[in-house]
Amino acid sequence: MPAHLIDGKAIGAVVRAEIKERAGTFVARTGITPCLVTVLVGEDPASRVYVRNKGKACTEAGMLSRQIDLPASHPENDLLALVAELNADPSVHGILVQLPLPDHIDESRVIEAIAPEKDVDGFHPVNAGRLLSGGPCFVPCTPLGIMKMLDHESVDLKGKHAVVVGRSNIVGKPVALLLLARHATVTICHSRTKDLPAVVRSADVVVAAVGKPEMIRGDWIAPGAVVIDVGINRLPDGRLVGDVAFEEAKETAGKITPVPGGVGPMTITMLLHNTLEAATRLAASV
Ligand code: NDP
Repeated sequence: MPAHLIDGKAIGAVVRAEIKERAGTFVARTGITPCLVTVLVGEDPASRVYVRNKGKACTEAGMLSRQIDLPASHPENDLLALVAELNADPSVHGILVQLPLPDHIDESRVIEAIAPEKDVDGFHPVNAGRLLSGGPCFVPCTPLGIMKMLDHESVDLKGKHAVVVGRSNIVGKPVALLLLARHATVTICHSRTKDLPAVVRSADVVVAAVGKPEMIRGDWIAPGAVVIDVGINRLPDGRLVGDVAFEEAKETAGKITPVPGGVGPMTITMLLHNTLEAATRLAASV
């Protein structure tokens, strides 16, 4: 029997409606409208689309968004000064500097300049450290969206073997920590992992975050496994595919996310969640 499709668009819409309602209650109670500031440096067309979509989603959820566009030649020191200004501005609750940044700017220096309590991307080392040690933090949006989808699908993670393919700081590592916190037994794989197909075959839950089109084949998937495909890969013919060979894998998996329409819509949804959370925490701290 083909797998049940995990519809990220539909789940995202439900979660966004909940966030919009909570944002409305927050505004009515405090008189504060949560505000996300996005900073785009340069002209990368994909980044421009991402930033525009983030701002639009924010407005649709009853929150404010401000986009600051800077030229590709913008000096690092001026960007750091802007971040400091936004950190100090009480009307700003979330700051998102769109990555990648031009080569002359040190990304980690910029990420570390963002106040951890406004770091709605969850990339600051303080937030990453708290995720590791179990403290209150902002969790990166894609891993958070994956957990939300698993919960929505009532996937019981306790004692299950979760295999995460990819160990990046923005997807692989944080999602592995979140799965571990939910009592899964977690294996993290990467480009040096030996016999990857055999490791994936032993998984009850597979999270693929590799960036290699359809690398994970259908015969790597154990019958009934839950497959979360994070990959977004554009093929030369223009098609968008994930890291999992979807047509093959859906014949064996129990549940599977499509690409597009799976993890992608959940990522922006969780940015809205983090922005509302930042405003709520900042309001509680004054
Ligand atoms: P990175 O390039 O930062 O990390 C890729 C990881 O995959 C690395 O850990 C790398 O291993 C591993 N890898 C590469 N080749 C292999 C291989 N042959 N076998 C096993 N592991 C391999 O990517 P990201 O984590 O940033 O993104 C992954 C994918 O997810 C991309 O397609 C990206 O576009 C997509 N993405 C989608 C999002 C969404 O909203 N849906 C959000 C973020 C990302 P090593 O560390 O050894 O090099």
